[in-house]
Amino acid sequence: NLFFILGDRALDGHGMTLSATPLLQDEHKLLSSSPEGHPYRLVALNGLPQILTFAWDYNRDTLLATPVLALLLGLLTFHLSRRGGSPRRELARALAAREFVPYLQPVMNNQGALCGFEVLMRWRHPEQGMIAPGNFIPLAEECGYIVPMTRQLMEQTLDYLLKVADRLPSGFHVAINVCAQHFKNEDIVAECRAFLAALSGHDIRLVLELTEREMLDGDARTLSIFDALDEIGVLVAIDDFGTGHSSLSYLQKFHVDIIKIDRSFIKGIQEEGPSRLIVENILDLARRMGVALVAEGVETAAQVEMVRRYDIDFQQGFYFAKPLPPAEFSQHFLPQT
Ligand code: C2E
Ligand code: CA
Ligand code: CA
Repeated sequence: NLFFILGDRALDGHGMTLSATPLLQDEHKLLSSSPEGHPYRLVALNGLPQILTFAWDYNRDTLLATPVLALLLGLLTFHLSRRGGSPRRELARALAAREFVPYLQPVMNNQGALCGFEVLMRWRHPEQGMIAPGNFIPLAEECGYIVPMTRQLMEQTLDYLLKVADRLPSGFHVAINVCAQHFKNEDIVAECRAFLAALSGHDIRLVLELTEREMLDGDARTLSIFDALDEIGVLVAIDDFGTGHSSLSYLQKFHVDIIKIDRSFIKGIQEEGPSRLIVENILDLARRMGVALVAEGVETAAQVEMVRRYDIDFQQGFYFAKPLPPAEFSQHFLPQT
């Protein structure tokens, strides 16, 4: 806090030159000495108030900006920590906040009439908007949250069905995607039973779609779960048929009602080639086994026509509609009351 003052410039103890503020020029407030006959002075700040005044004069911007910056940084950290978290914790939070919601994609029969829907999960994220299932289902399966998430999805689907049941065609199919974890215990049977009981009096069928990402064991417990589901009238569908490792062994081990032909095969159905041959083979297999067929990923009128010509029972795809929020599904596909 010692300065060398020459005119309106000051030199501080670190060798920095500054412009001399009024404080440094005020001889009465400072310990100051100016040798006679010389144009310079040496001044010292004495005491805290002067040091503070000096700091204020020179660093006003920094002194004002620092707390504001600290506050902003704090807010940013808070925001990021809430958003970032570990993906697992984030899923747990979303589950508690009931952010997983059903979207519905219509399934049509081969006359082009509505005969069901598939429930596809979306994550209604408070900051990131609607998130597609490919981004969170694999993790949800890995950490076991998929089971309670599916339970919530079924509850919401049931609420919706109770509102619109009178406007649905008879024999309406409601398809829910499940994975191997659902077959670890018998809760799935109880949940399906409760779902169907709540809809008793309405002609609605529940379908469980099984993907092949995780293989199901053909152990005694799994088999007994399949039997119990069959007994209460739940249908089982194999999803993405032909793309996994276990399609055929599923057919061999479990009672299967529906095969969903993967969209990769439907894509090539118009041309002569392997896709068409595979579809024809699946068709033959399904007919012989008495299993119904759904063509997935139907996108063009030509594909619709081809699927119809092959007499495939059901079809589903963007040609008819993308998965829709329930209100939009009602608006577009159900008779208006
Ligand atoms: P998936 O069960 O095979 O569902 C069909 C997917 O294909 C959906 O994608 C649907 O939007 C899309 N799709 C339907 N029609 C067309 C079409 O014409 N063209 C094309 N290019 N795509 C079409 P989404 O909704 O993104 O779901 C992706 C996958 O995530 C599902 O494939 C399913 O395996 C999984 N998933 C979705 N919801 C659930 C759920 O609630 N539980 C479980 N375990 N898995 C789910
Ligand atoms: Ca599916
Ligand atoms: Ca599929």
